[in-house]
Amino acid sequence: MITIVGVGAAEGYLTERAIKEIESAEVVYGSRRAIEIAKKYVKGKAVVIAKFNEEIYRKIAEEGKKRKVVVLSTGDPMVSGLGKRIEGEVEPGISSVQLALARLKIDLTEVVVIDGHARECLDEVLKAFEIGRDALILADSKFDIKKLREFANVVVLENLGYENERICENCEIKSDLAILFAKRR
Ligand code: SAH
Repeated sequence: MITIVGVGAAEGYLTERAIKEIESAEVVYGSRRAIEIAKKYVKGKAVVIAKFNEEIYRKIAEEGKKRKVVVLSTGDPMVSGLGKRIEGEVEPGISSVQLALARLKIDLTEVVVIDGHARECLDEVLKAFEIGRDALILADSKFDIKKLREFANVVVLENLGYENERICENCEIKSDLAILFAKRR
């Protein structure tokens, strides 16, 4: 049995249901950051995965036939997460998208959420603007923010929920945990 469990975007956002799943797992897979967030509740074996790839997915699928396996996904598994890549039940978590919306006081229905992680996404941002929405972009420190600023006002939201959380306009991206709010002019 395999459950993909969202652990929230930072410490303190684990749901009661997520905790129950984690506590009852015989094996818990996750990135270093995901395991760090959930470690208080891990009773079985914890396996840190440096990089999820096909080989790891196969190993998890095999192990899931014999044991109760939990795969941790930071934030929510269905927001650029592991929910689509691994076969199993999904237990939702509090996404960095939700933290960003809370900080900005913007409703999810007013934006389009875009994956800007190691991929070109400016066309998608422009399409969002065309339908009257702003864009919330999952980014990292390599994102070309200069180009985006040519046609949008951009707020950088970094390390949400962590002690070094930073929210600023007219600043550069310093962290790989960054969400950009691109507002149409
Ligand atoms: N499933 C995760 C997202 C995984 S993709 C979720 O629901 O939050 C990783 C991207 O999410 C990062 O590049 C960044 O854009 C964003 N992210 C994750 N945690 C974050 C945080 N604490 N603060 C800001 N952005 C974060």
